[in-house]
Amino acid sequence: MSDYLVKALAYDGFVRAYAVDATETIAEAQRRHDTWNTASAALGRTMIGALMLGATLKGEDKLTVKVDGNGPAGGIVVDSNGKGEVKGYIKSPHLSLPLNENGKLDVRGAVGTEGMFTVIKDLGLKEPFSGQTPIVSGEIGEDFTYYLAVSEQTPSAVGVSVLVDTDDSIKTAGGFMIQMMPGADETVIDRIEAQLKQTVRISALLDEGQTPEEILKGLLATDEIDFLETMPVTFHCDCSKEKFGAAILTLGADEIQAMIEEDHGAEAVCTFCNNKYQYSEADLNKLKQEALGEAK
Ligand SMILES: [Zn+2]
Repeated sequence: MSDYLVKALAYDGFVRAYAVDATETIAEAQRRHDTWNTASAALGRTMIGALMLGATLKGEDKLTVKVDGNGPAGGIVVDSNGKGEVKGYIKSPHLSLPLNENGKLDVRGAVGTEGMFTVIKDLGLKEPFSGQTPIVSGEIGEDFTYYLAVSEQTPSAVGVSVLVDTDDSIKTAGGFMIQMMPGADETVIDRIEAQLKQTVRISALLDEGQTPEEILKGLLATDEIDFLETMPVTFHCDCSKEKFGAAILTLGADEIQAMIEEDHGAEAVCTFCNNKYQYSEADLNKLKQEALGEAK
């Protein structure tokens, strides 16, 4: 079974929960960006959080998560939507830091502990919704939790984790998001909090062969879970030669002529997925004619 996310309700609907196995999705990001282990964990965790946040949206709605910290990662940008599609990049993919004091990948060291955590939601309205909170941890999961509590007033627990193999490939990657609805019983909250404290990382549970459904049963400390929906998740980028062509067009005829004379062609590289698009002199001449046509 490839990657998927489950949405569930428990405790008479007072607890909303999501869990995702994103192993293949993060592996695809790792291969496309050639990220080294610490960068893989930082980018992967952000992508997993964005996938779960995206799962709260309706199909065509989308969001962007930006993590701009003062660490050597140099910034992370991730796009996701309500259909389980995600793409993203980290400014410094070749980042491998010494393990932290717990023997784990030092994501905090990569991201930094100062900076901003931003979520921009495009819900198809005139203005996108934008929320921003300071980076409080740099470990990403806690930053999602803090953002949800402060900017969206939704008390949540978010766990995101990536297990990187010694050859830098992704072994497992996944996460959970548990949200308390208004009026949730204090004893339920205490019970889940106690459970979360003793739960090991999701990537380790996935490595043991647990499914997202089984992981949620463990996290919520109950078998009475109403699984509402199962959604496939994938790395997906919507870039194309036409889209980058439209961007070249906006440079104007003179600039395109210069590209023809100086470079006899052009190459566009997508920052989100690393796909490369080649433009021959003939392609550029066509775009130049279009630019001249539009200028009239
Ligand atoms: Zn792309």
